[in-house]
Amino acid sequence: MKPETLAIHAGNLYKVSTRDVTPPINLSTTFLRDEDGGYSGGHMYSRVSNPNRSALENALAELEKGAEACAFSSGNTAGMAVFQALKPGSHIIAPDDMYWGFKKQLQTIFKDILEIDFVDLTSLNNIERFIKENTVLIWVETPSNPLLKITDIAGVSRIAKENNLILACDSTFASPCLQNPIAFGADIVMHSSTKYIGGHSDVLGGVLITAKKDEFWEKIRNVQQVGGAVPSPFDCFLLVRSIKTLAYRMHGHCNNGMALALHLNKHPEIEAVYYPGLSTHPQHEIAKKQMAGFGGMLSVLIKGGSDQARKVVNKVKLFAQATSLGGVESLIEHRASVEGPDTKTPQNLIRISVGLEHIDDLIADLDQALAR
Ligand SMILES: *Cc1c(COP(=O)(O)O)cnc(C)c1O
Repeated sequence: MKPETLAIHAGNLYKVSTRDVTPPINLSTTFLRDEDGGYSGGHMYSRVSNPNRSALENALAELEKGAEACAFSSGNTAGMAVFQALKPGSHIIAPDDMYWGFKKQLQTIFKDILEIDFVDLTSLNNIERFIKENTVLIWVETPSNPLLKITDIAGVSRIAKENNLILACDSTFASPCLQNPIAFGADIVMHSSTKYIGGHSDVLGGVLITAKKDEFWEKIRNVQQVGGAVPSPFDCFLLVRSIKTLAYRMHGHCNNGMALALHLNKHPEIEAVYYPGLSTHPQHEIAKKQMAGFGGMLSVLIKGGSDQARKVVNKVKLFAQATSLGGVESLIEHRASVEGPDTKTPQNLIRISVGLEHIDDLIADLDQALAR
């Protein structure tokens, strides 16, 4: 089935006696035991599994063409579950512009537990030099945040397979409707479902999807169930509800993203536009190969440096000046000041999450904010 169809039906997993068309929110933390000690309802205790979470995990596994999914209470805890499932002393290769929250985890929580190299993964030749005896995992993030760099998932997967390494891919910027990393050889896909999957800026969540149910996946499931950083039934209900419109929302984000990138690319106050849909993007050909659309995230460099960039984000009226992304409303942010003093993000960079408003209104708002 196509993503539009799966998105609507794959979360309607369980049947209740009232024969609801849409699964209800099931708040029970505990489930009745049978006389023989079994659990014929399929659930025992809500941290381990519950009907709403199973529905969400089923929908995401189907959309990503994976074997199974694990849902978490945030994107950060989803990613952390992968790092927690590794043996202490393991070496991992991660992108140089990795999502800053994960970089921070690796540099603080896992500082004495894992060895990490942050590498430019857009160059495949660069990767093999970093593989060592204790390397176990390559983490890619594509498109990347905030520079929208594209990593060749199939290319990295060949290197991972030759060296017996796990390949994990943070696919948050693409969503399951634009990119399925498992089809290109990834073992684990990660999403912050706070972003496009939720799509309305009102629920925090994260998810991992596995290509196969192997020993490493069992460890991740154990971190989820025994660690307990799980989403509530209500969060899962909201996400299943959001997923039903994901494919159509992504069509809208892609159309608006492309139109805005083309407009800003010829704007006299803009120094550069980072958007994988532009033919001038250095990895445009790879993006075309592995993505069904280029999404609604773009970054621009503003002429006039940091001061002018701060002015623009304060002058917009329709765009909300806020961090995060993937919602129906457009957001804008001066990224360097969000990431803090040790950031490598250019000081004149503005990151835009293009929402689903009419493109003419978005362009008019940015034009008036950019006018000097
Ligand atoms: C937001 C985000 C995360 C972290 O997710 P949370 O839900 O905020 O914990 C991870 N990776 C990327 C690319 C993100 O944008």
